[in-house]
Amino acid sequence: MLRRRPAVSGVPIWLLDIDGVINAVTDEPDRRVWPEQEWIRTTAPSNHDLEWPILAATPVLDFLRRVHEQGRAEIWWHSTWQHNSVNVGTALGLPVWPVRESPEFGTQETELATPLARTRQTWWKLPAAQRVLAQGRPLLWTDDDARRQLRAADTRPWGASALVVAPPVEAGLTPRQLRRIDRWLTNWS
Ligand SMILES: [Mg+2]
Repeated sequence: MLRRRPAVSGVPIWLLDIDGVINAVTDEPDRRVWPEQEWIRTTAPSNHDLEWPILAATPVLDFLRRVHEQGRAEIWWHSTWQHNSVNVGTALGLPVWPVRESPEFGTQETELATPLARTRQTWWKLPAAQRVLAQGRPLLWTDDDARRQLRAADTRPWGASALVVAPPVEAGLTPRQLRRIDRWLTNWS
């Protein structure tokens, strides 16, 4: 029997990861993804006030700012940075976004040697995403680890209620992915 898709409506909730999504995890920025002059470097304090290098593309930051200002999505941090996520936002001059509550954080190693999709474990980030849909809201989830850590069975029931985008970790969100997100958000406006 076909499972009914969750009925969702309203402004989508965007769960936004940091490393591999807005912070390109690499020493040298990929100029094939964004031109040289679009990349900016800064640092942000993580746990124990360690300054962490941040490499971001300004078109990605501008896109996030516009989505926020135009009320096209409600953006929430969903990252192992947890409450330190706001430090990254401040360092990049982004609006202040809340951190999505995830009691599951810390229940498993954050550096995972084995992709969870091959085990029976649930990725700590998944329940928070499921709660967005259970709450009746469309879900946009950008996370570079989604490709490795989610099973097809995790996302299949979501149908068109959710868009999961997994950027390349060394580049973060690409022009093509931003266009895809833009189109998806337009469907909900
Ligand atoms: Mg990441």
